[in-house]
Amino acid sequence: MTSSKSSILIIYTGGTIGMKTDAETGALVPFDFSAIYDEFPSLKRLNVDIDVQTMSPVIDSSNVAPANWLALARLIRDNYARYDGFVVLHGTDTMSYTASALSFLFENLAKPVVFTGSQIPIGVLRTDGRENLITAIEIAGARIDGRPAVPEVSLYFQNRLFRANRTTKRSAEALNAFRSYNYPPLAEVGVNIAYNLPAILRPSETASGTQLRTAERLADGIAIVKLFPGLNESVLRSMLSAPGLRAVVLETFGAGNAPTSEWFIRVLQEAIARGVIVLNITQCGGGKVSMELYETGLRLQRAGVLCGHDMTTEAAVAKLMYVLGQELPADRTLALLRKPLRGEFTA
Ligand code: ASP
Repeated sequence: MTSSKSSILIIYTGGTIGMKTDAETGALVPFDFSAIYDEFPSLKRLNVDIDVQTMSPVIDSSNVAPANWLALARLIRDNYARYDGFVVLHGTDTMSYTASALSFLFENLAKPVVFTGSQIPIGVLRTDGRENLITAIEIAGARIDGRPAVPEVSLYFQNRLFRANRTTKRSAEALNAFRSYNYPPLAEVGVNIAYNLPAILRPSETASGTQLRTAERLADGIAIVKLFPGLNESVLRSMLSAPGLRAVVLETFGAGNAPTSEWFIRVLQEAIARGVIVLNITQCGGGKVSMELYETGLRLQRAGVLCGHDMTTEAAVAKLMYVLGQELPADRTLALLRKPLRGEFTA
C-alpha cells in the first residue's frame, strides 16, 4: 500500500444509514453527513480525504427508480477525475438493484465504487452503519502496488465485500443482510482486510486513464415472472401480452426447469415471436441454470429462451435495462445478453 492520501467522495442517497435519534424527542431524524468528521472524529485517522455530497431529494430506496440510477452514475462520472474512490450510502431494500445497474452503466471503470448502508440507523448506539461506513471508506481508498485494490462496483456489508451485481438482500432482520451465493467475497474483513485478489475484476488495459463513460438510457418494459405450481395459461398469457413488454426475467425451478405443458411452451413461443426476450434464471438463491440437463429445461431452450446462468434477479433486470436501452439490432442485443459484461455470471 502507498502512504499518499486517497480522496474519497461519499454520496448519500437515503435509507436507514442516514438516520439518527433526536436527543430530545427520540424520533429518527436525518444524520448530517457533511459534518462527518464531527460525528466520527476517528475517521481522521484513516489515510483519506473525504468529501460528501447528498443526493436531492434523499429517498427511501423503495422509491428508487432507473432515473435515480442514471443521476447517480452521472454524478460519479462528473467527479471521476477528482477522486480515487466513491462510497455510495443507500437504503438496503433496493441496494442490490442500484449497485447492479451502476456496474452495467459504467464503461471503463478503473476506480472503486463501494455501496453500503445499514440495518440500524447510524445514530443509534448499536448501529451496524458505523463499521460499514468506515470500512467501505477504507476499501474505496485502498491501493495495492499503487493501484486501486477493488476497481469495480462492489457492496460492503457486515465484514464482507461482494461484487455488487452478484448480491441480493436476503434478510430484513439480520445484520449480515446480503448474500452473494454464486461468487466468492472480494474481501473478508476481520482484524485485517483480506482481499481475494483473483476474484476482483481488473480494468482492461485501455480503461485506466481512459475517460469513464456512462450509458445514458435504460429501457423499461421489463417484467419478472416467477413460476409456481398452479400458474395458469390465462394469467401467464396476459402477463406476456402486456403492452410495451420488451423482456421477461423468468424465474424457473431448480436448474432452470419449467412445466413441459403444451400451453406453457406455446405462450412463451408466441411472446418470443413478438420480439419479447425471455431470460431464464433460477428462483433458487444459489446454483445455476443448465437448460440441457432435463427435458423440462431443454424445451425452454428450443423455444428460444436465453440462459441466465447463475445471475441474480437484480443483475438480470439491470442488464436487460442496460442492453435494451442501447437499442441495438436484435443479433447484437442477444450477443450482449449471452456473455458476461461485468462479471455478472459464470458460464
Ligand atoms: N427502507 C430502507 C431503505 O431501503 C431500509 C434500509 O435502508 O435498510 O431505504
